[in-house]
Amino acid sequence: MFDYQAPSQLLTGKVILVTGAGDGIGKTAAITYAKHGATVILLGRTTKKLEAVYDYIEQQKYPQAAIVPLNLDGAAEHDYIELANTIESEFGHLDGILHNASLLGERTSLATYDPTLFEQVMRVNVTSQLLLNQALLPLLQKAESASIIFTSSGVGRVAKPNWGAYAVSKFATEAMMQLFSSELSELSPNIRANAINPGATRTNMRASAYPEENPDTLATTEEIMPLYLYLMGKDSIDINGQSINAQ
Ligand code: NDP
Repeated sequence: MFDYQAPSQLLTGKVILVTGAGDGIGKTAAITYAKHGATVILLGRTTKKLEAVYDYIEQQKYPQAAIVPLNLDGAAEHDYIELANTIESEFGHLDGILHNASLLGERTSLATYDPTLFEQVMRVNVTSQLLLNQALLPLLQKAESASIIFTSSGVGRVAKPNWGAYAVSKFATEAMMQLFSSELSELSPNIRANAINPGATRTNMRASAYPEENPDTLATTEEIMPLYLYLMGKDSIDINGQSINAQ
């Protein structure tokens, strides 16, 4: 596991957007960031799940969260601009984005991959990240120091048969991270961009990809949080353009 002990108030005063915050790794990351003092903006497509995370954060007396129901599949440019306007008026700036939401798509060969599903996976896993970053860059530029974290995968580095659009989307995510990282170091040196490969983690997505696997043999979402904290907080201020394994 990535070795990092986060100070308890690492993210105090920070405003952080987490996509796919209703379930799996995104849910745990949102709660973990709130526990370390951040105001988290919970973005996802299932409002009920986001409300459950919001309520938990409230119960724990962490800083009050905000909910943004948004389906990244159907979202258009104006939805992202509206989101940026809301964050601007509520908080004035943004200190971090965790791009976490993803679709698995089909586990089948490219030769027979459904082109409509291919485009859907690319929209949710790749295009939405571009549109979010474009809309939110002016707010990140206002932060003293801002961190953009992308979520990669083992198949975003070496594509394995039958991982289809998902693998293509994760290669594209690695490229997007590298481009934002190098381009922003000229344009906005206060913003860094890196990627996390979570490794095999006990979530619904993992269970869909490997239905035969015993989930008890996998890392929990809580166990992989040290890297999520490290890359979001000030101890990683000099880390830029890296793709790092959480396990
Ligand atoms: P889950 O499927 O458990 O969670 C994915 C989250 O993304 C859910 O909250 C889901 O919302 C949300 N989401 C999916 N589609 C959309 C959409 N169109 N609009 C908005 N939100 C959406 O997956 P994990 O937690 O396992 O995965 C998190 C990240 O980690 C992903 O990027 C994944 O690729 C990556 N990863 C995971 C690994 C693992 O072993 N778990 C290994 C390698 C990488 P809802 O709950 O409403 O469906």
